[in-house]
Amino acid sequence: MELRLYDTLTKEKRPFVPLDAKNVRMYVCGPTVYDFAHIGNARPVIVFDVLFRLLRHTYGEAHVKYVRNITDVDDKINDRAARDFPGLPLNEAIRKVTEQTGKQFHADVDALGALRPSVEPRATEHIAEMREIIERLIAGGFAYAAEDHVLFSPQAMNAANSSLPRYGALSNRSLDEMIAGARVDVAPYKKGNTDFVLWKPSKPGEPSWPSPAGIKAEGRPGWHIECSAMAWKHLGEHFDIHGGGIDLVFPHHENEVAQTCCAFHRERMANYWMHNGFLQVESEKMSKSLGNFITIHELLKDWPGEVLRLNMLKTHYRSPIDWTMKSLEESARTLDDWYRVAADVVPGEPAASVVEPLLDDLNTPLAIAALHGLRSEAAALSGSLRLLGFLAESAAQWESRKQQASGVDAAEVERLLAERTAARARKDFKESDRIRDLLAAMGVAIKDSKDGTTWEVAR
Ligand code: AMP
Ligand code: ZN
Repeated sequence: MELRLYDTLTKEKRPFVPLDAKNVRMYVCGPTVYDFAHIGNARPVIVFDVLFRLLRHTYGEAHVKYVRNITDVDDKINDRAARDFPGLPLNEAIRKVTEQTGKQFHADVDALGALRPSVEPRATEHIAEMREIIERLIAGGFAYAAEDHVLFSPQAMNAANSSLPRYGALSNRSLDEMIAGARVDVAPYKKGNTDFVLWKPSKPGEPSWPSPAGIKAEGRPGWHIECSAMAWKHLGEHFDIHGGGIDLVFPHHENEVAQTCCAFHRERMANYWMHNGFLQVESEKMSKSLGNFITIHELLKDWPGEVLRLNMLKTHYRSPIDWTMKSLEESARTLDDWYRVAADVVPGEPAASVVEPLLDDLNTPLAIAALHGLRSEAAALSGSLRLLGFLAESAAQWESRKQQASGVDAAEVERLLAERTAARARKDFKESDRIRDLLAAMGVAIKDSKDGTTWEVAR
């Protein structure tokens, strides 16, 4: 069976045909590093990690290049740096914020079982590429300098008599309607009210770089140009897959397409545009003011990362997901069971019943349903779970982590079990029942079989 992917641009599921099967290329918009990542941010990380693994499985590990950027220049970063390190020069404070947050992001996503991308470019290391794209856009008549800003004109793009894509095509919007609906109090240096910033002046103390377009004052890039530059540098002018959350389609991705296609006279930037749906918590939009804002870091104190991973993949990536405690508990019980059955088994080939739904636009709910059907085929279950990024630990590690998290004292449990065995041997069933109840109250489930008694922390 072939891989099929849904493309936001053409609004259809199409067979995936790489530009070069020896070098399959994917770009995903990464985090802006100013604070702990929340569980919504974990969604694109996990979803595109599954796609990365599936592409590696299909084309070979050496033939897939996955780029996920780190946005380390942004107003939110500057504000956070000024707030958290008021005594430091702003540039130093910014470095502290981006370093700390970047490290925390890595710790979080490693725990989620996500492979590191092939390249993790930082925006601040690609300023030269941004300047070059901006110069090309000005030379082509798509951008202009005004009052130390450089602006991109979507109207110039759509007026160009060429094979460029139409501005608005990705997000399915009409430029005329955007123009009619735009704010009236638009910045005075903008020629058109839908023009967007490629470059802007830095305020005193803010990070700044020599400007393009002959602008004397130093400045800094707009957000959209960062991704066009990093994707170009690491994947070229035209590549296979571009991904991110659905909130990025407009304006971020629409503007990335505009910049890249106009700078390089291309009909397309990426052949497949993929977007994950949004995550909400207990049926409400996640927000700081509602008090339901959860970071990955906090969740990892209560749950193994693989439980969060499974919980995310139970919903198809394009559907909205409702993140609930009930579902997390169920995911934890499922993984306990899979760890018992498959973690210490030599993995076999992933089962076709799991791979086929994945090839169908990453149908992870169907793949997970198939996993439930593989309990009696431990080798296939093990291989399939590993393809999906599970079973990083041994069964014993998994169980002991669960014991630690629950505060159960394993030595005490063993002592009580020995007492219970002795009571049973002398047919004192009242005492053996008392011990079983005591263990249950401690959160320990026991199972008797002809080979003896085993126990585990109950979820
Ligand atoms: P940000 O740091 O806000 O730019 O977000 C980083 C990534 O997380 C982007 O791909 C966003 O689309 C994605 N994202 C942010 N919030 C959510 C959410 N609640 N559900 C799903 N994806 C999200
Ligand atoms: Zn981006």
